[in-house]
Amino acid sequence: MLITGGASGIGRAMAEAFNDAGARVHVADLPASRGGQPEGCGFSGVDVSDPAGVDELFATVLAPADAGGLGGLDVLCANVGIAGPTGPIEDLDAEGWDQTMAVNVRSAFLCCRRAVPAMRAAGGGSILLTSSTAGITGFPMRSPYAASKYAVIGLGDTLAMEVGEFGIRVNVLCPGSVDGDRMVRVIDAEAAATGESAADLRAAYEKQVSMRTFVEGRDIAAMAVFLASPAARFVNGQTISVDGGLETLRTTWRT
Ligand code: NAD
Repeated sequence: MLITGGASGIGRAMAEAFNDAGARVHVADLPASRGGQPEGCGFSGVDVSDPAGVDELFATVLAPADAGGLGGLDVLCANVGIAGPTGPIEDLDAEGWDQTMAVNVRSAFLCCRRAVPAMRAAGGGSILLTSSTAGITGFPMRSPYAASKYAVIGLGDTLAMEVGEFGIRVNVLCPGSVDGDRMVRVIDAEAAATGESAADLRAAYEKQVSMRTFVEGRDIAAMAVFLASPAARFVNGQTISVDGGLETLRTTWRT
């Protein structure tokens, strides 16, 4: 199986959980990623928004085991994503928009178009795309991110229809706010853009969730392992949130 963005955060938790479940895991992440290679996993240092990089990645992954590959692909977690720029839309530039779309949407497209033929040849597989609660509710001050995450759901829904008959299931995961570095960076950027304190913003995020808490990477990873397993053999074309019950990202905005 292949996980993109697997050196840190949710992707790393997925790599560890699939590893624990006995899968052979290959991780793709930026060559200079913060997290480095998770234990027991193959690793490619690659920018997965780059078509040539993704072609090279799949050549490596699909190579026979004695050449260091997996010899095929049964599971793809197209998980990579960046937060993108924070601010009112009139302050955002086209470069930030394009970069967010390239990393969050084009990377998933590039990986899926290489994974599908390999899975078809094997008689089936499971593709998991990582969107976000922001891809369901929108996210004020993060318009490129929210738009990219709606696009990921559109890609997943469409692909599920296109490849279901070949035994390939496609589902989309929507994490809520996950405890860790990424949310610290997101909240700090929002604090800088709004002048609110990071502590108040975190408290506001928690208040939006029925269970009044952030989730953890391992909670998303556990859902990913289930969705990729035979126990989920007829779960297809679904968008599944793991978020503690997000009530809204909207009504506490500017109240
Ligand atoms: P993270 O920043 O901790 O990890 C992302 C990983 O992706 C990093 O290791 C980074 O090096 C890698 N990466 C970034 N750009 C890349 C590229 N072009 N090519 C290859 N690798 C690249 O983020 P995370 O919190 O683990 O987020 C993972 C996914 O979950 C993302 O799609 C994110 O949008 C989504 N998500 C996260 C949260 C959250 O609260 N953290 C909430 C909802 C959705």
